[in-house]
Amino acid sequence: MTNKTISLIAFLIISLTINAQNTVIKAGHFFDARNGEMLESQIIVIQDGKIKEIGTVPKFSDTDSIIDLSNSWVLPGLMDCHVHITINLPYRNLNVEQMYSNESTALRAIRGTVVAKQFLDNGFTTIKEIGNDANYATSAIIKAIKKGWIQGPNIIYAGKIIAPYGGQSEGVNPEHEHFWDFEYIDADTPNEVKKAVRKNIYNGASVIKLVTGDNGIYNIEDIRAAVDEAKKYAIKVTVHTVGGLAATNAISGGAAGIEHGFELNNEQLQSMKDKGTFLVGTDFSFDNWYAYGMDSTTATVLNNNLVDRLERAYKIGTPMAFGTDIVVDIPELNRVESSLKVLETWKAAEIPASYILQTMTIKAAELLGIDKERGVLESNYYADIIAVQNNPLNDIESIKTVHFVMKEGEIIRNDKK
Ligand SMILES: [Zn+2]
Repeated sequence: MTNKTISLIAFLIISLTINAQNTVIKAGHFFDARNGEMLESQIIVIQDGKIKEIGTVPKFSDTDSIIDLSNSWVLPGLMDCHVHITINLPYRNLNVEQMYSNESTALRAIRGTVVAKQFLDNGFTTIKEIGNDANYATSAIIKAIKKGWIQGPNIIYAGKIIAPYGGQSEGVNPEHEHFWDFEYIDADTPNEVKKAVRKNIYNGASVIKLVTGDNGIYNIEDIRAAVDEAKKYAIKVTVHTVGGLAATNAISGGAAGIEHGFELNNEQLQSMKDKGTFLVGTDFSFDNWYAYGMDSTTATVLNNNLVDRLERAYKIGTPMAFGTDIVVDIPELNRVESSLKVLETWKAAEIPASYILQTMTIKAAELLGIDKERGVLESNYYADIIAVQNNPLNDIESIKTVHFVMKEGEIIRNDKK
């Protein structure tokens, strides 16, 4: 190579570096998730899927691609910490056993791709898929997203649900005792729990979910076996439980999260605060309970209980991450719109909008173990960015007005181009 060629190559490399095109977002209003407050007129410079610089001063060049969101409220991508993308049950006709037998893993996976895209399009750039996906359907969906075949959110995935004998099925005949095996792994001793954890991780799980209290209650040792095994792979354990002894054992055993926790008492909420255990409350509104088939009176009672539990958890200071658990769509509403009905419960409990937004961003990221890369918009974090039309601090329901979505620097949706 001649000296001339070498200097030409060096010149090209330098000019490419200088002229490397960044994406620049001009944010009129910007939610600082770490401090829970709205800032004005921020410039976000994005390069290679991550935030390079953010603030009022960043410089950008004419060659950069500018996205003008100066009339919008810009937020980190939202997170839902309890979803089941491959399930959709008929309105007011909950029959999971029928779904298990009538819908193949392939069909469930196809539905999952549709629901995953709905979450992404509506501003949820990360979801925790918490199981009940037949024979690891979501594992294939995650691969398809990574290959670029389909668009979908970043998915934290539980694999099969680990539970005491019987999964969450009731009244299945003894001759059909393996009926639930596509959805659950029976595990009744600490060693069986460990084996189930390893099987899930082999199949792509990035979080472990246990169910306790539905059929049989896990001992503290059973919970601890899951937590210790998962920890070897830097994975967390979250536990479905409504309350009582099952919840006490889950908290004492070191679970990172409690899913539902509808009947947690103040003592349990306090010990969750002390240990840093998150509550993923799946706080169904009246309409959600009604959609699941409850009569009006029951739906009202159940919703009031959740408002009360949310109020107590907030007052005590239990860490919380947003999760919805909606598997029945309300007529005329898609999955995300049906899921966001739970905001009515949060509003009834008078939880401040800035706190709710934090449970959907920075706090969710903390529970999911991704708080060093997502959940806030700061340098070196992924450019998971959304914009809404109205100030969500005035009314949290404004997050339903998403008109811009970016995931890892890629524009998924921009209605106002
Ligand atoms: Zn669930």
